[in-house]
Amino acid sequence: MNDQILVVNCGSSSVKMAVFNRSGESLASALAEKIGQSDARLVPEGGDTVALPPNADHRQSLIAGIQWLQDNGHLGKAPLAIGHRVVHGGEAFHQAALLNNKVIRAIEDCASLAPLHNPVNLAGIEATMELFPRVPQVAVFDTAFHQTLPRHAWLYPVPKRFYNDWGVRRYGFHGTSHQYVAEEAARRLDKPAETASVISAHLGNGCSITAIRDGRSVDTSMGLTPLEGLVMGTRSGDVDPGLFDFLASKGISPEDTHGILNRESGLLGLSGTTSDMRNLLKAARNGDRDCQDAFEVFCFRLARYIGAMMVSLDNLDALVFTGGIGENSSEVRARTVAHLALPGFRIDPDSNNDHGQARNGAISASDSRFPILVIPTREEAMIARQAVALATGEADPNQSQNH
Ligand code: ADP
Repeated sequence: MNDQILVVNCGSSSVKMAVFNRSGESLASALAEKIGQSDARLVPEGGDTVALPPNADHRQSLIAGIQWLQDNGHLGKAPLAIGHRVVHGGEAFHQAALLNNKVIRAIEDCASLAPLHNPVNLAGIEATMELFPRVPQVAVFDTAFHQTLPRHAWLYPVPKRFYNDWGVRRYGFHGTSHQYVAEEAARRLDKPAETASVISAHLGNGCSITAIRDGRSVDTSMGLTPLEGLVMGTRSGDVDPGLFDFLASKGISPEDTHGILNRESGLLGLSGTTSDMRNLLKAARNGDRDCQDAFEVFCFRLARYIGAMMVSLDNLDALVFTGGIGENSSEVRARTVAHLALPGFRIDPDSNNDHGQARNGAISASDSRFPILVIPTREEAMIARQAVALATGEADPNQSQNH
């Protein structure tokens, strides 16, 4: 019996495709990148890069990627199920959903909240529906896990009509990753996921932090859009909203300010040279003052948010670091935790340096008040798991109760 699950993750200029089996093992993957550009290409894991038709769009790139996976024996004639990452599910989706016309319309309705993301997610869905009309397909939303936030955590203190008329509120993102690492932390600590309280810091190109109480998201740093919260690669995170008006007085339009805060700020804005933490750390070690500043602001603001997340918890089983930076940068973890001596977080330098590998992910010192863990995120495996559970009608044995 075919037990392959195809996971599709359409980003603004890339499409990630991954094949899993029912046990959640990754069998193959490929990344189509530079979509819409003259040098669009497919980078298969462990294979040679293949040129895509110049200016290939998401649909063409995805179809070419799937064809490559099939031609190279990584994907059979049709998978058992297909899971799509969908960025914004608004208030309509509290969990993953089996795709049908009604669900597709609801995703289209959320597009005004995520104009850069939902339309490309839908392009991916349409392409795979055309290729595999009989295969059950599932949408897994970045926002769904955060639908359990209490009202006081998701309402913004602006005129209520903005929420009533337009749905202006905190939604939160990276939900699949936060849910996965919280469940994995509970497993490693030998606790049922439904009783675990975790602060999870997802630090990649985008960064967000979530407080999880009894397996449910109760506060998170990203908001209406993925711009709010922590310092990120090119996104500013929190700034004074008065900045828009101030910059307008300098002749910079709100549209330009929006672009600057999304694409020219964060690590890139402060360093002036790079949005990539690896390069930034190298330059900082060589004495680059702007890169040192970017590193310090990143870690300070992250620590401040870890403190803020504690407000939503009455106990803490673990602080978890994940994402490319969280999993790999001992310097970021050490500097961040150094700001958190008062609440009692302490890191063990040797464990931190080997990313907790010798201690099942633990990097906390023996006198730390709370465990600190490094857990590699597995967003795609999580999407595959939810897709197969919904497609086959079998309950997901690992999924926490998130209704
Ligand atoms: P995305 O959000 O696009 O999935 P990732 O989770 O892969 O991104 O994270 C990318 C970030 O992780 C980049 O800033 C990169 O420099 C950083 N990173 C990866 N490896 C290391 C490392 N060894 N040390 C420091 N930062 C790293």
